[in-house]
Amino acid sequence: MTEIILNNENLDYMRRITASAAIPHAIIIEGAAGSGKYTLALHFASMINCDSENEKPCGSCSSCIKIEQNVHADISVIDVEDGKKTIPVEKVREIISDASLIPSEAKKRVFIIRNGQALTPQAQNALLKIFEEPPKDVVFLLLTTDKRLLLPTIVSRGILLKMQLLPREIIKEELKKHSSKPDSDIEAVIAVSGGSLGQAQELLKGTKILKLRELVEAYFSVLKSTPSVFSLCEVFSPHSYKREELFAVFPFFKYGFRDIALCKSGAEFVPMFFTDTELMECISEKISSSNLVKLYQKTDELCLSLYSNVNPHTAISVFNSYVSEYSRLG
Ligand SMILES: [Zn+2]
Repeated sequence: MTEIILNNENLDYMRRITASAAIPHAIIIEGAAGSGKYTLALHFASMINCDSENEKPCGSCSSCIKIEQNVHADISVIDVEDGKKTIPVEKVREIISDASLIPSEAKKRVFIIRNGQALTPQAQNALLKIFEEPPKDVVFLLLTTDKRLLLPTIVSRGILLKMQLLPREIIKEELKKHSSKPDSDIEAVIAVSGGSLGQAQELLKGTKILKLRELVEAYFSVLKSTPSVFSLCEVFSPHSYKREELFAVFPFFKYGFRDIALCKSGAEFVPMFFTDTELMECISEKISSSNLVKLYQKTDELCLSLYSNVNPHTAISVFNSYVSEYSRLG
């Protein structure tokens, strides 16, 4: 079985509801890409259906083995299809029709929907209907990077579990087991992995991430003075980056502003982006606390907007003008 590192609270919850046999029909699992949502969902599907009288999942009964080998007839995994960006309403209609069948061998039929944030609004509305009137012996595990990308009505119909973020030291230890990259690279990817081991592993495979990190560091250096939109665009040009790159760049900015805000508050903390403490302190003296909060929130909003197909050019332009407006004291 794939090892589940930390996430004790979520596992305890799953053990409790499995033992009580009062399993909710919809569970939403929220966590960054690579934070282990799918592993946890499969583990839970095994736990519910395991035949063992002892610790579940046992990993050796016929149900556990079939789930592990991905051949269990009652466990369905739904995801964005290759080459597509969304999960269409037709896919949800198929789920609804399958959900009305009684399980062929399992105790509960389990539908794991990966990348729930990619469900179209129409698909989410269809899903909501079945969440409201769920068939017997069906459990939906809806995985998402951010619950705000789901309809609030969907979220309120389910139990929300958040993936627990891993401490730096644990991610570092795991990465070092499988990589010979230098410590500085490892530190850099940990800094932007947001506590997600999978994301850190992905990032460590490429060199591009380190280039993007350098870009963000150069951008923060410009904030030591009070920059114009023009000087910001010179570092971070709206024409030079693709959407995929922005998925890495904006979290760097987000964690950077978080660090600066915490630095200004005088709290004791471990920086998530900055390795150059002097630069972080210098910027914290240049920008007011309220503006730092605004910058963090705006960057977070832009991160989210990338999922709803906002044009990368527009995202960068908006970001630069916002930073130029708020990177000051008053
Ligand atoms: Zn078992």
